[in-house]
Amino acid sequence: MRIYLDHNATTPLAPSVADAMAQAMREDFGNPSSVHYFGQRAKRRVDDARSAVAALLGGTPAEVVFTSGGTEADNLALRGAAEARAASGRRHLIASAVEHEAVLNTLKALTRLGWRTTLLPVDASGIVSPAALADVIDDETAVVSVMHANNEIGTLQPVTDLAAIAHEHGALFHTDAVQSTGKLSIDLSALGVDLLSLSGHKFNGPKGVGALWIRRGVRLSAIQTGGRHERNRRAGTENVPALAGLGVAADLASRTLSEHASRFATLRDRLEAGILSGVSGAVVNGDCARRVPNTSNISFDGIEAESLLIALDLEGIAVSTGSACSSGTLEPSHVLRAMGLPHQRVQSSIRFSLGAGNTVEQIDRVIIELPAIVRRLRDLTRASGRSAAAGMAAARRDA
Ligand code: PLP
Repeated sequence: MRIYLDHNATTPLAPSVADAMAQAMREDFGNPSSVHYFGQRAKRRVDDARSAVAALLGGTPAEVVFTSGGTEADNLALRGAAEARAASGRRHLIASAVEHEAVLNTLKALTRLGWRTTLLPVDASGIVSPAALADVIDDETAVVSVMHANNEIGTLQPVTDLAAIAHEHGALFHTDAVQSTGKLSIDLSALGVDLLSLSGHKFNGPKGVGALWIRRGVRLSAIQTGGRHERNRRAGTENVPALAGLGVAADLASRTLSEHASRFATLRDRLEAGILSGVSGAVVNGDCARRVPNTSNISFDGIEAESLLIALDLEGIAVSTGSACSSGTLEPSHVLRAMGLPHQRVQSSIRFSLGAGNTVEQIDRVIIELPAIVRRLRDLTRASGRSAAAGMAAARRDA
């Protein structure tokens, strides 16, 4: 039995999503911009998806712009708002130090183009303080971008308070909600944000499709120019099958959200309690109270995370070290470093992220197998003097 505990990297397609996509591929091949029957059939698919995404967020369909995923939604939010506001002298951008690379590297690119950028620090549990934002924001700030939930540790940011500070200074507020959509109920009016990014493949929808919610009245420049799709905000013929899948995933998430959230929390807490009591020197990273219900990030004293990941994979258990984009690079997590954690704790951290397919039996198997694996790795490191990573790489070759 293989156990998948890497749902923050991506989730499997829900069967109803796959069915909707297959049907759209077979039957709805028309171009949604065409006025004839075939085009209008495809357009209906796109319209239904837009309504489902809007309903999941508590917004209106006209506020939803479809993109090729979370990365493009973040790019459109930051580049689109920065460009639209530059003429008014607002050339300052703020984001937190723990954002996904989709935000951080977009900010770096905008810095090279002449924008001034500021990164907000986080505390030891990964949270941005509203006071830190109040200290650095000024009347030239165009956009503040702070993620709703962090992909590595799951920590939730005080988005409502941060958005209020941004608005006091006339800045727009963007939140990357890629890791909270489908896991938590999102109430746009309570959050008070202007722009919100989401991605289909994080909540049992397809990869390569997502959306940016743009509050009515907020002006953005298009970053992908061409035809008049998406109300002139994102050109290009719509990916109808992917959007059909996104719509079904959003609808499913709306209906199952509260049941899933409480199930994820129960399983995650069981996993965490089992690991902490069964493995000495294990410590949870992030804020245990304010986080998405499916995520647990744990450091294992004296262990290299990559070795543990490989050892677990050999036992059929899939987890991750930090974010999917940086795993495999041995690059230390920028999130854990920003929290000021010691190097050893950063290098020994594993992310467990749960999803709809996980069961109590799976969680209990991880709780039973993990202590022996950790013990073996620690013994390996101690006995041979060579790194546990090298040991496990050899074990993998032999397997
Ligand atoms: N933002 C966050 C917080 C993420 O976790 C991810 C994906 O891991 C992205 C953005 C990028 O989304 P996508 O994979 O849809 O481009």
